Amino acid sequence: MNHGGISLTEPKFNVIDLVELQLIENAISARSSEIERIKNNKELVSTQDEFEKVKEKFDKVDSEYIGLEGRRKKLEDTVGMQNEKIKNDESKLFSGTITSTKELENYQQEVIFLKQKNSEMEDQILELMIELEEISERAKLAQVEKDKAEAGVNQIKSEINGKTEVLKNIVEGLKKRREDVTKRIPDDYLKKYNELKGKKGGIAVVVLKDNFCSVCNMQIPAIAAEEIEDIDEIYRCPLCGRMAVIYREEIDAIKKELES
Ligand SMILES: [Zn+2]
Repeated sequence: MNHGGISLTEPKFNVIDLVELQLIENAISARSSEIERIKNNKELVSTQDEFEKVKEKFDKVDSEYIGLEGRRKKLEDTVGMQNEKIKNDESKLFSGTITSTKELENYQQEVIFLKQKNSEMEDQILELMIELEEISERAKLAQVEKDKAEAGVNQIKSEINGKTEVLKNIVEGLKKRREDVTKRIPDDYLKKYNELKGKKGGIAVVVLKDNFCSVCNMQIPAIAAEEIEDIDEIYRCPLCGRMAVIYREEIDAIKKELES
């Protein structure tokens, strides 16, 4: 059936289904961009940057501590070994088995030398321990800062996850609803719908209210408007070429439902 060249065909289904399909897809894309927007959270990015900074600071102090602690341990071991050597030398010296004066002197020299070295090393160890204590204080503070920043990151992440979970569930529900409504629309209309959607920025169906196209936002010419009278008919907007359906309250009800 043709109404003055602007009607498509006589539909054999509820034309509101096409409007509903469009509204569902609008809602899906709105919710999806909302998810993307939430994921690209600026606060998360800056909090993560802050965390990286304090983590780097902590790692630096920590590796400084590990390095000094390694040096302390090595000195400790050397002192231990040298004490062992001193003990051996001294027991030899006092054993009465050494008869050569030269040998005796050598042992005595070695003991003096080792004791001197140990004394120096123990001074170094003491200095290292003081330094380690100071670094350990700094490490503790850096750790607190790092933990705090990490908690901040995790909190924002969990907020984001919470929000996106809710939205993802809504999208799942919308997709289910789209499936149902799609089943009610004849294939040739679906084909037309998808064609127009591809060509016209994702919007294939408009609603005409008081002869205004909901997408063009313009009043359609009076001559064309005269032909548009059947609420169960699908027309073509003479301005944007999309499929057009006459407004009825049911449409607002669907919109409201989809927004909640
Ligand atoms: Zn239009």
